[in-house]
Amino acid sequence: MSVRAIVGAQWGDEGKGKIVDLLAQDADVVVRFQGGANAGHTVVNSYGKFALHLIPCGIFNPKVTNIIGTGTVVDPAGLVAEIAQLHQAGISTEQLKISNRAHLSIPLYGYLDRLLELARGNAAQGSTLRGIAPAYAAKSLRVGLQMGSLLNKDRFMQSLRDTLISGNQLIEAVFKEKEIDINATLLEFEEYIRVLSPYICDTLPILHQAVKEGKNILLEGQLGVMRDLDWGIYPYSTSSNPTSGGAASGSGLPPHLIRNVTGIVKAFSTAVGAGPFPTELKDDVGSYLRDFGEEFGATTGRPRRCGWLDLNALRYAAQLNGFTDVAITKLDTLDQLEHLKVCTHYKLDGQIVKGMPLAEDLERVEPVYVEMPGWNCNTQHVRSWQDLPTEAKAYVELIEEACGVKASWLSVGPSREATFRRS
Ligand code: GDP
Repeated sequence: MSVRAIVGAQWGDEGKGKIVDLLAQDADVVVRFQGGANAGHTVVNSYGKFALHLIPCGIFNPKVTNIIGTGTVVDPAGLVAEIAQLHQAGISTEQLKISNRAHLSIPLYGYLDRLLELARGNAAQGSTLRGIAPAYAAKSLRVGLQMGSLLNKDRFMQSLRDTLISGNQLIEAVFKEKEIDINATLLEFEEYIRVLSPYICDTLPILHQAVKEGKNILLEGQLGVMRDLDWGIYPYSTSSNPTSGGAASGSGLPPHLIRNVTGIVKAFSTAVGAGPFPTELKDDVGSYLRDFGEEFGATTGRPRRCGWLDLNALRYAAQLNGFTDVAITKLDTLDQLEHLKVCTHYKLDGQIVKGMPLAEDLERVEPVYVEMPGWNCNTQHVRSWQDLPTEAKAYVELIEEACGVKASWLSVGPSREATFRRS
């Protein structure tokens, strides 16, 4: 049996979807353990190219039970569309399960997200406006709606109506804005209930039965450590815990069962939205990384901010997650660079900083770089460690040293095939 958490080692968008799709060929259960439909996991395989927002990336293997876990918030409209998109491509969702304890993200929350972000003006947090923060806030305020409640339609419709009435009172009193159309929203939910009900169940017995039977389980995280609610660049963080600790609570497995934690490391850094990003490049190299690496948001299409690899962030990620190995993606994106820079430390007010400063100080740090020779050749067809250029091997070893573990997988292209084991 193996239980493996797959987590982002940077700011998100590291290529977790690609690695989960690959490892799911050998898995029995995949659980998406936190987050909502605010970030996409891109998968390129023999079925085509997909951006999955909530559905676990094990969905392409018909033998895998795919669970949308308790730690997630579910946008029903988005999920219904995602299911339809998979069906259109001939992919079955028969093995999809939605935790009855996961929370609903209703349209009211998307609206509140927009109003709150507008009210912040220059201090906007760069929200994707998908209602994720208000949905998690409602959960914490204990006024949220759980997915299981959809199974009792009459009672649910009453709770939804009550929630919308209070939401409208808030919108009117605080924002002086147009109210949500309650009847239209209730009508929309008729369809969501019809489509989603068959997938909703208590997912805990399924998961623990899989453990008992010695099955292979993957726990799929969304975003990365630098967006973690507790450890990331608060308040420019997400509203859940994408670290391995979150994998336990978000899936319902005791922490000691998660023996393997694979950190997904992109060969350079990217970030979407606002917040400190010490190694950001606003020059030609940054544009090259964005264009050549096709760094545009899978959910929003927003151009990603790009920068050099940040070893301080990786050391922090390894410490918080307890990596047992890493997978390194997008080595090929660096192919055309003659020289590479890698941030080894930060300096703040002239002093080397230990650990990870709070966001307000992280804004002011100065990255300390080492320069390395690039490999300056095409690696997209490389399929073995032996064939990787010496400079690329040295780069991989630098990442391994920072993370304190070996790389298991190296990736040199978006497709499932463009991946090989580090021997
Ligand atoms: P995730 O949210 O962590 O799954 O990452 P995203 O899907 O948001 O972003 C990763 C992007 O990089 C996607 O467009 C992937 O198709 C792409 N990708 C993943 N691995 C590689 C790789 O090794 N090389 C290249 N060129 N693209 C990759």
